[in-house]
Amino acid sequence: MAILVYAEHDNKELKSATLATVTAATKMGGDVHLLVAGAGCQAVADQAAKVAGVSKVLLADNAAYANQLAENVSLLVKDLAAGYSHIVAPATTTGKNFLPRVAALLDVSMVSDITAVVDANTFERPIYAGNATATVKSSESIIIVSVRTTAFEPAELTGSAAIEAVATATDAGKSSFVKEELAVSDRPELTSASIVVSGGRALASGENFTKYIEPLADKLGAAVGASRAAVDAGFVPNDYQVGQTGKIVAPNLYIAVGISGAIQHLAGMKDSKTIVAINTDPEAPIAGVADYFLEGDLFTVVPELTAKL
Ligand SMILES: Cc1cc2nc3c(=O)[nH]c(=O)nc-3n(C[C@H](O)[C@H](O)[C@H](O)COP(=O)(O)OP(=O)(O)OC[C@H]3O[C@@H](n4cnc5c(N)ncnc54)[C@H](O)[C@@H]3O)c2cc1C
Repeated sequence: MAILVYAEHDNKELKSATLATVTAATKMGGDVHLLVAGAGCQAVADQAAKVAGVSKVLLADNAAYANQLAENVSLLVKDLAAGYSHIVAPATTTGKNFLPRVAALLDVSMVSDITAVVDANTFERPIYAGNATATVKSSESIIIVSVRTTAFEPAELTGSAAIEAVATATDAGKSSFVKEELAVSDRPELTSASIVVSGGRALASGENFTKYIEPLADKLGAAVGASRAAVDAGFVPNDYQVGQTGKIVAPNLYIAVGISGAIQHLAGMKDSKTIVAINTDPEAPIAGVADYFLEGDLFTVVPELTAKL
């Protein structure tokens, strides 16, 4: 049987999370079908058809899916589920919202946030804030899996799948879209950036983020992240938070400035390829995961580093 992957998009563009999810799905064996549910999203279906490893794109283009409300999308996926051995989605806010509903509607348990595929029904997933890895085997009739996208390489865009329209559309009538507030930024998106510069409590203010972190990030073409302490103190918005209760990132380079490296922060960034820590305290836990540790006062060394780059 085939595997159904849910495509994440904004009706214009396929999100990179989908590409990593397809890579995970191809490791489960079987044909991979990609579901594009949206409104006026033909362009997304065209991009989806190019994803290597995908044999068919299902296009559910209907006003009911315009904002991909979880109540509507979960009913659609449930209706399509009968023909599939697996239903797979990225473990993003979208996936975390609708996929458990699909599992509940089908009365099966799901496996969340997988980081490796052992075989068609066996997966690895982090537990205890990433301190241990559990290998779990699902014996459900239909296997529902969310994927930690940082753990898989993105699929290439070398394919040419057929696009098939899905005729059924259901509006659950339980929710409606009110508004969306998006942070507008010229910087790369945090979860897909190849370089991330994050600031912690030591920055002491939002102005200091602007003065010290942003110029360094801009020199490197990096996204800006933060610890929860910096977010809770109001230095930066919530969507900057990296960690267990924030975003999971795994860039090529992660620079932690004035961040102690609490276990909940490490859970969100310790899989980064190269970690640089800038901190006054050589005993800070971040030193345990850092490849390079620059001991010093950030207010002195960050401007020096930025100037030298
Ligand atoms: C359920 C739960 C979930 C959580 N989820 C998250 C999460 O998702 N993300 C997250 O980040 N946290 C999370 N936390 C909070 C976490 O436990 C820490 O409190 C938080 O990460 C600390 O942030 P920080 O490193 O910026 O601050 P601190 O721990 O206060 O560290 C500041 C660091 O800056 C250094 N420093 C001070 N002055 C300077 C200077 N001038 N120059 C250079 N370095 C300096 C200090 O030596 C210190 O190491 C969570 C906590 C709980 C209980």
